[in-house]
Amino acid sequence: MRPECLPPFVPRVVFPQHRVRLLEAGEPLVKVRLSGGGRCNVTHACFEPEQLVQHYPRGSKALRGAFARFQPRDTVAWFAAEGIALKTETDGRMFPVTDRADTIAEGLLRAAAAAGVKIVPRCPVKTVGREGDRFLLQTGQGIQRADRLVLATGGKSHRLATALGHTLVPPVPSLFTFNIPVPALQNLAGIAVPEAMLVLPTQAPKSPQRGPLLVTHWGLSGPATLKLSAWQARTLHGCQYQAPLAVQWLTADPEPLLQIHKSQFPKRAVAATALSPP
Ligand SMILES: Cc1cc2nc3c(=O)[nH]c(=O)nc-3n(C[C@H](O)[C@H](O)[C@H](O)COP(=O)(O)OP(=O)(O)OC[C@H]3O[C@@H](n4cnc5c(N)ncnc54)[C@H](O)[C@@H]3O)c2cc1C
Repeated sequence: MRPECLPPFVPRVVFPQHRVRLLEAGEPLVKVRLSGGGRCNVTHACFEPEQLVQHYPRGSKALRGAFARFQPRDTVAWFAAEGIALKTETDGRMFPVTDRADTIAEGLLRAAAAAGVKIVPRCPVKTVGREGDRFLLQTGQGIQRADRLVLATGGKSHRLATALGHTLVPPVPSLFTFNIPVPALQNLAGIAVPEAMLVLPTQAPKSPQRGPLLVTHWGLSGPATLKLSAWQARTLHGCQYQAPLAVQWLTADPEPLLQIHKSQFPKRAVAATALSPP
């Protein structure tokens, strides 16, 4: 479904009988303002929850329920109701039409203010505990009490959840580039391959990831590398990030590529030109 087919209005959430306070250790939405290279990749133009969950390396069971209630279609409609239009890029990623992450951050802050949420910046929560049936919070700005508590501390402050008796699956890094200090690869730094395949041979057949690949002075980067790091995050952590990696530089029929190179560089050997940037 295209965004213009979306329902035009989503009711705004208000909390008339509740006081909602958001205690923020620093300034709100700092990460959002930096996200997507400063453009904020808000959501993805995939409006079928069953299909959408397949793009997540982990948590698909829990996400199915969440997406049944609020999925990218609702995200687009929600922002449209806040006066923020999103656009879809050819690969399905959706950004604000302004191409500015600030548009998203400011919209979220406006919506929070309109819903009566009081944001308290520079107010780190140091400890949480119970006081009868209420929560007692020690913060950098004194004690706060609350009837309900939502923890949204990102990758930090796990101790707040465990202090309340929750168990957490230990987080591991994901979406990272690969450090491969091999001189032969370092000599190729700067080369971008439009479609390559990366495989952890010991994990085949599950591990292959395709996509653009970038050789850097550090090793490998680009979407294929990031995808493999996300899908194999726990495997790679389990082997302390020491694993053989197979790179298939050409995934499609190499014939057309070789023909292009042949016409562009008729006097050069294929071996010297096959990895040149397109
Ligand atoms: C460079 C980069 C680009 C990215 N681009 C995108 C993108 O384009 N699209 C996308 O969807 N995702 C993107 N991401 C991922 C996205 O930023 C995260 O998934 C998202 O920010 C996670 O949101 P969160 O609320 O869980 O955590 P966070 O954004 O980390 O927010 C948690 C907040 O809690 C506060 N906090 C922590 N501990 C305490 C405490 N004890 N007391 C009070 N406050 C506390 C922190 O100060 C922080 O403001 C990007 C990430 C990076 C690093």
